[in-house]
Amino acid sequence: DPLIEVQNLNFWYDQKHALIDVDFDLYPSEILAFIGPSGCGKSTALKVLNRMHDTTRGVRMTGQVLMDGHDIHAPDIDPPLHRRRFGWVAQKPNPFASSIFENVAYGARLHGLTRNRPELDAHVQSCLRRAHLWDEVKDHLHSKTGTDLSGGQQQRLCIARALATEPDVLLMDEPTGSIDPIATAKIEALMSSLKQDHAIVVITHSMMEARRIADRVAYFHLGRLLEIGPTETMFTHA
Ligand code: ADP
Ligand code: ADP
Repeated sequence: DPLIEVQNLNFWYDQKHALIDVDFDLYPSEILAFIGPSGCGKSTALKVLNRMHDTTRGVRMTGQVLMDGHDIHAPDIDPPLHRRRFGWVAQKPNPFASSIFENVAYGARLHGLTRNRPELDAHVQSCLRRAHLWDEVKDHLHSKTGTDLSGGQQQRLCIARALATEPDVLLMDEPTGSIDPIATAKIEALMSSLKQDHAIVVITHSMMEARRIADRVAYFHLGRLLEIGPTETMFTHA
């Protein structure tokens, strides 16, 4: 069964019709890549999923987003609890200036996911391991800050931070868009291992990257989802 079903989604920023009749499903343990030219609606479609889209005056949305078959805008949905089911990773690594430990502990603490210090320590370690960062930072958890790390390490720290609430879905907005090729290869390998436990939606500007990591590709153009399908079939006639 799909984890998320997006049905006939339309989204307007004032007069700008940013998403037009968009339909797609997201399945557990898959990487779905959003591709398409700048301004075609990829980040709007990503942010709608965890209800982090713009809600200022003039913004309007119709259609449905179902998670586990339940409308995410139903009155019984608590937005902070809903958001906790998602981890967000931005293009530019944005770790907190606090210690490496605090960067990861933050979400777990905020949501009361750990009851005591040993549990918190174990949780932080587990998130850092799953983000393939533990060995590089284990001796500096409290002595270095997130911003002391290299760009690629910072991005893996942001992924560890995103894992701290044990999300069902990772939303990644060009996670490799501002790091070097070696760091990119590490993040791509990491994503392939994370998809076992998390569905991943990733925006990428790189067709090559989509080809390397995605199970399915959704191609947006001028607010429409023109085509969605398995990665192999999407690129045969591209
Ligand atoms: P992409 O991620 O593919 O670059 P976006 O979802 O960011 O596309 O944007 C889709 C369209 O909506 C673009 O035309 C963009 O200029 C417009 N847009 C995005 N955010 C806003 C906003 N906050 N206010 C007004 N227009 C916006
Ligand atoms: P930019 O396009 O420069 O990344 P945004 O307005 O998209 O600017 O986001 C600003 C910051 O807000 C991001 O770096 C990210 O940390 C946070 N953010 C944006 N969208 C989301 C989201 N859907 N969920 C969680 N955090 C978000």
